[in-house]
Amino acid sequence: MRFDIITCLPRLLDGPFSDSILQRAQVKGLLEVNVYDLRTYGIGKHKQIDDYAYGGGAGMVMMVEPILNCISELKAKRSYDEIIYMSPDGENLNQSVANELSLLTSVIILAGHYKGVDERIRQHIITREISIGDYVLSGGELAAAVVVDAVGRLLPGVLSNESSALTDSFQDDLVAPPVYTRPANYEGMEVPDVLLSGNEKAIETWRFDQSVERTKIRRPGMIGKDEK
Ligand code: SAH
Repeated sequence: MRFDIITCLPRLLDGPFSDSILQRAQVKGLLEVNVYDLRTYGIGKHKQIDDYAYGGGAGMVMMVEPILNCISELKAKRSYDEIIYMSPDGENLNQSVANELSLLTSVIILAGHYKGVDERIRQHIITREISIGDYVLSGGELAAAVVVDAVGRLLPGVLSNESSALTDSFQDDLVAPPVYTRPANYEGMEVPDVLLSGNEKAIETWRFDQSVERTKIRRPGMIGKDEK
């Protein structure tokens, strides 16, 4: 799967994809992440990308033309399944949105800055708007990185144990059960006996029960939400 991220601060995206799971996914050729510097597509000798808001008020607005120039260049080379704008008022990112996106091949993500992008880009160019939560970040870069991470780890072959993503929180509308590792007793703090029993069936039942209990307490609205 290919992500082309458009940003005016490309350096903010230097780190998130250069380590661990996402880095290995790229080496294996399962994930491709390209970062495009919007400034390159800026207007005039100062490579302008933002301007004052019509009607006044504080904060700059990202201009139509540089964004359009960049997106047109990308679209001339390949087709895209979605052109996503990261936006606090977009659809909330959750596991089912991540699952859905993981089935796509090529996606553009536009990271906003300042007051955001000119509304005409959102109306005419953007196909989907995603928020990572009801709070405002200073830019869309970290939000874009969150989307790439949540989606990238779902791509077949990215996690070494294929079933591992399926046992994570939210995949069955349940949060994950607690996990423990050695030692079995750390200064009196013990691991539940069942996990040491070697009885796979009992362990599976215990984990499921724990997931249900935790979900009731931590995400009560999630239980049975698909039956409504
Ligand atoms: N004036 C805008 C906020 C702009 S914040 C408003 O009130 O809605 C600058 C940029 O950060 C946005 O264009 C968006 O790309 C990004 N951003 C901020 N919060 C975000 C969030 N919760 N999810 C996704 N992107 C976000």
